[in-house]
Amino acid sequence: MNKNNNENYLTKIKNNKFLIISIFLAIFLGITIYFFILKNIEFEKYKENAKQDSELAKIYKEELLEREIEKKNEIKNLKELTLDNIQNIPKNKKELLLNIIPSGKPFKKHVKINSYFGLRVHPISRRKKMHNGLDLKVNIGDDIMTTAMGKVIFAGTQRGSGKMVIIEHSFGFRTSYSHLNKINVKLGQIVGKGKVIGEGGNTGLSTGPHLHYEVEYYGRELNPKPFMDWNEKNFNSLFIAEKNVSWEKFLTIIGKN
Ligand SMILES: [Zn+2]
Repeated sequence: MNKNNNENYLTKIKNNKFLIISIFLAIFLGITIYFFILKNIEFEKYKENAKQDSELAKIYKEELLEREIEKKNEIKNLKELTLDNIQNIPKNKKELLLNIIPSGKPFKKHVKINSYFGLRVHPISRRKKMHNGLDLKVNIGDDIMTTAMGKVIFAGTQRGSGKMVIIEHSFGFRTSYSHLNKINVKLGQIVGKGKVIGEGGNTGLSTGPHLHYEVEYYGRELNPKPFMDWNEKNFNSLFIAEKNVSWEKFLTIIGKN
């Protein structure tokens, strides 16, 4: 009886030992797998970061090269300036003209053109008529901004145009902004480029909220599109697209004598 008990006891111990070793092994294996996965995640992250870094380095190198080429081509002697090499004038000279002559969008949001400049069937009268500006989609209340520095020569209501602001710029340019919901400027006020002159709206003859934007040069209506698309990067584009302005005259502003 006693011998039998002892044997049972020994078997129990043996089984327990096996169980404890198994548990330890399982824990060890678990920890090993856990660290392996952790290391693998870290490695993947490291690989991703390295990839991003090398892409950034590539972009940076390209930009550096672009700037070097720009600097190399930059016109040093402005007496040599023509409309063909105007792309190579220094940045601050470009900024000067972009501030004086209407450039860019009359608001911050993405441009959506409802109606282009030129002959069209009028949406209300249904008659074929010249459309003297661009109809740009806006929401009521959107900030409407000047596209060049100038002076307010009209701020009020006109039949058809609704609430409207006209800005006179230097050298014969004017811009106008129609169908406004609210006007923020006064007659005679001097405004810089980007000044908020009012809110987009639906006043006057209008079939929905939009901004009717016009660019004029000595009384002649021009297509506002090339002015709106004009920026530092495509600096010669306006002079190619708009032939109704004697651009040569403007070279003296930049420094050509
Ligand atoms: Zn219009």
